[in-house]
Amino acid sequence: MTLPTTPEGWAIRLSQVVRIYHETHKLERFPIKVASLAKEYSKQVFPSEPITMISADELTDGIEGMLVPKPDESGEWGIIFNNSSKISKGRINFTLGHELGHYLLHRGRSPKGFKCTMRNMMEWNSEVGRMEAEANKFASYLLMPLDDFREKIKGQEVSMELMRHLADRYEVSITAAILKWLEFTPKRAMLVFGMSGFIDWAWSSTPLIKSGIFYPARQKTIQLPSKSLAATGTPYSDFPDGFKHPKGVWAGNEPVHETTIFSPQKEMSITLLIYSDYSPQNLYKGSADYEEKREWDTFDQFKTNS
Ligand SMILES: [Zn+2]
Repeated sequence: MTLPTTPEGWAIRLSQVVRIYHETHKLERFPIKVASLAKEYSKQVFPSEPITMISADELTDGIEGMLVPKPDESGEWGIIFNNSSKISKGRINFTLGHELGHYLLHRGRSPKGFKCTMRNMMEWNSEVGRMEAEANKFASYLLMPLDDFREKIKGQEVSMELMRHLADRYEVSITAAILKWLEFTPKRAMLVFGMSGFIDWAWSSTPLIKSGIFYPARQKTIQLPSKSLAATGTPYSDFPDGFKHPKGVWAGNEPVHETTIFSPQKEMSITLLIYSDYSPQNLYKGSADYEEKREWDTFDQFKTNS
């Protein structure tokens, strides 16, 4: 059988393997057990260069995961992931998927392996960070296959609660689940990642970008809007269904529905913004320009953090 060459192709191939195995053994398909899948699959398909070691370590310098060749030049590979107490199970699972993606797609091009930080793993759309983006794409499609994801949100109102539920189902972070949804939704929506009162980065769905609403957070320092739940630190439990702001609070001169959750110390926030389906604005002429620029933003980040 010919081997896939793209992140999606590999993810679909492995999803089929998992589905068949789990149906035969009447097991629950999700969450995907990446560690055993990586070892079993690589042993069968690449017997001369299998993944034989997956281990946890307290990695430093912001490294989330590594793909490393065994030093004895046996051809074997290992995956090491950061298990410091600050890192959630969901992030670990995504990291394992990401490193397996590097193994399947890139090990030939980078014989010394990979060291991956949180920041470069966020590079979803960078030309230069293409290998990082491909490994993320692979992990996203492997852990959250589109058919299942669509099925689970069909007929449901999209909310933070639903995203939390999906994050549990697939054992990924809420951020990864929301980014997955933003990839294909026809809705105008945005994810804003806040850090110490500022917008660290934000990601708009394509329909929202087309109506001219986005934050160029990596080109400029932008404060979280002072009246937002994110800036005021309003606990999630106060507005679990979110809060509808009048126009003028968040980007775009429109009312917007905000739901925000915080990290335990509140220094980080994850905000889901949902705008109305109808855009009152005309297509903003800067949109195409921005979509181009966001490639460059990620390029800068890639340089400074890798
Ligand atoms: Zn990587």
